[in-house]
Amino acid sequence: MSLEEYKGVFIFAQQVDNHIDNIAFELLGKAKDLAAPLNTQVTAVLIGYQVKDLADQLAEYGADRVIVVDDPELKEYRTEPYAHALSSVINEYKPDIMLVGATAIGRDLGPTVSARVKTGLTADCTSLEIGDFPIQPREGVEQKHNQLLMTRPAFGGNTIATIACPDNRPQMSTVRPGVMQKIKPIKGAKAEVVEYNPGFTPNNKYVTIEEVVKKVSETVDIQKAKILVSGGRGVGSPENFEILKDLAKAIGGEVSCSRAVVDNGWLPKDLQVGQTGKTVRPQIYFAIGISGAIQHTAGMEDSDLIIAINKDETAPIFDVADIGIVGDLNKIVPKLTADILAA
Ligand code: FAD
Repeated sequence: MSLEEYKGVFIFAQQVDNHIDNIAFELLGKAKDLAAPLNTQVTAVLIGYQVKDLADQLAEYGADRVIVVDDPELKEYRTEPYAHALSSVINEYKPDIMLVGATAIGRDLGPTVSARVKTGLTADCTSLEIGDFPIQPREGVEQKHNQLLMTRPAFGGNTIATIACPDNRPQMSTVRPGVMQKIKPIKGAKAEVVEYNPGFTPNNKYVTIEEVVKKVSETVDIQKAKILVSGGRGVGSPENFEILKDLAKAIGGEVSCSRAVVDNGWLPKDLQVGQTGKTVRPQIYFAIGISGAIQHTAGMEDSDLIIAINKDETAPIFDVADIGIVGDLNKIVPKLTADILAA
């Protein structure tokens, strides 16, 4: 089958307990961008049990078509039936591009499906665009047009790699949550809804789920915060994070941190920003006692306004900051909080 027969940008619309995960809306926003130069449609693949009613939400966030795979076997996420569902959709509908969120589910499902449909997968992408590959033409290498250029950090974040999949379809990638922009939803928008069931064998050998134990997170979701007060090793101790918490409280923000803070056991991993933490895009990001390593800035550089406080004027964080304050955080942060409360 020729590559030209593969059409459309597809996204895996992750849902858990009949709630669509935010990553699905982010992927739809990106899929619309990618579909425009290819002059093609955006399709969301919705897999689960009794999930058809969720299709309208996907339409409002930009899906032209929703393929629903609905079956009791798909009530909870399990690798085998979900991989069977998604790879069957790919084999039947032949997408040019297939995007999956780099969530715990997507990191399991994406590679399983890509192996099954015999294509490549670029994991944990932070940028996607349509372009020519190789980007720089090379002698003896055919340059192919309208390729999906998939960009991700490589070698521990020390370099950025752009990868393409010129000879197989679909072009598949998992995409980091929080990186892509969702569109403003269009209320009442409708998509074509197609029901598809590849069949699930009755005497299957799927893993059985005996019990689901739900853990209620004790920390806030920093990806939803409009203001983040983020602290690094320079804060000095877990007790000293109180001054950051006071500032966050005064301005209606939340506290987050660098990896050094998590590695020291000062704050939980859920609050870590960066390449191996979360990608955030708040309206205001305070970087306090954070040096600005590339693995940290990769997770926060798209914030609207970055305010850095650091005693070292050569700290790399000042390269990405909009406002830089050089000085001791122990003096500056309490004063800032007091001034805000007094204003
Ligand atoms: P430091 O680099 O030690 O910086 C502390 C800063 O505080 C310094 O700039 C210092 O001048 C300043 N300071 C000290 N005292 C004061 C004071 N009294 N007042 C004001 N300023 C003060 N890091 C992440 O954050 N997120 C990630 O997701 C992540 N992923 C990684 C993945 C890999 C594969 C690797 C190899 C590394 C990763 N890192 C990550 C680690 C990263 O390289 C840095 O080591 C880390 O970000 C440093 O944290 P920090 O800025 O808090 O500490």
